[in-house]
Amino acid sequence: MKGWGMIEDDFGGEGARMMPKEKEFFWTGHPFVDAGLVAILSVSNKEKTEDLTEGDIFKAVDFVSKLYAKDSWYRTIQGQIFPNSGVLMVNPSMKKNRSPNKITENLRKLYDEIPEANGSDNICVACGRRERLEKLDLIGKSSQIVGRHVVPLVGTGDMLNFFHSGSRKGFAVCAACLFLIQFMPVASYKLGRILTIHAYPPKYSLLLAEDAVEHARRSSLISDGRGFRRAESFLFHKVADISRELNENWKYASVSAYYFTNFNQRQEMEITFFPSYVLEFIAYAESVDSVGWRGIVRRGWRDKKGDFEELEKTTRKNEVYRRLLNGESILRYFYDATNKKVITSWRLLEYYAREVLKMDETVLGFIKEVSDRIIETIGE
Ligand SMILES: [Zn+2]
Repeated sequence: MKGWGMIEDDFGGEGARMMPKEKEFFWTGHPFVDAGLVAILSVSNKEKTEDLTEGDIFKAVDFVSKLYAKDSWYRTIQGQIFPNSGVLMVNPSMKKNRSPNKITENLRKLYDEIPEANGSDNICVACGRRERLEKLDLIGKSSQIVGRHVVPLVGTGDMLNFFHSGSRKGFAVCAACLFLIQFMPVASYKLGRILTIHAYPPKYSLLLAEDAVEHARRSSLISDGRGFRRAESFLFHKVADISRELNENWKYASVSAYYFTNFNQRQEMEITFFPSYVLEFIAYAESVDSVGWRGIVRRGWRDKKGDFEELEKTTRKNEVYRRLLNGESILRYFYDATNKKVITSWRLLEYYAREVLKMDETVLGFIKEVSDRIIETIGE
């Protein structure tokens, strides 16, 4: 990851102070909470949660407060992520008071409220370890409920059935998780809707969000995902880039993409899951036959004329991507019927047949023997 030179440490001795034990952060498995942790780690130039200092947290607070007070972030946050949030001061009635200092103050108050991670009742549904926040005045003076103004896609005071327990206090979340969720926008992309990526192991969450955080650092804007307009195509592209550039094999990894809007009046969410066999296959394809793999993907778009780079940025569906993610065969895309030949290296085809389709040796031997006719006979 690249160095962090823009923010000076103006927190004096406080800056290097270790995290107080009770406030330590950890991965929770909740996509929005973990995305917030990714943002803080990435801004701090760190990879492990246990390496964070309290100074890192305060610097990250300072960084997002400056960002969120800007008009462009205000519009996205108010419009699509945290409508009317009292914490991030996006409620139109707070316009006059909105300032980095005010946002910092709100976030620091939430941070101060973080309890030890050994709660026994009234537990947070996101981390399962800390007691839920009871001081609701911390999320806005008039807030009676932890709703979708501070946690995207949950309910509101009028829509209690959107909460796990129908609780009148809303989403049962602790101060730590709520604090972290406020950082999630910095680790997300805006491809029309908002794209937040959650991966296991967490190092892949960091790699997949790196572009977004870099963009925020450099331009103070939310990343548009380099002009991509379809979350699925963007993810395939990112996974291929990371595989090729960093030699990552994505062994036993998985990725979930949450593509959503949290408008006040309307909420939408699409979840795309990338299982490890898909990630490992992309990584393998990039390592043995990147050109051949692009040839296969190219055949997944109906448009026969447009070039690859253009098409992958559009909203158009790609049949190869769709089939891979749905566990359907893409064998026929390895074969060019017009020119009667297989368009990738044998190694890639063999890997696909063995590792993704789980064909056994006998079938593979047969395939190799009659290599050119295979796809016609078995692939359809
Ligand atoms: Zn929690």
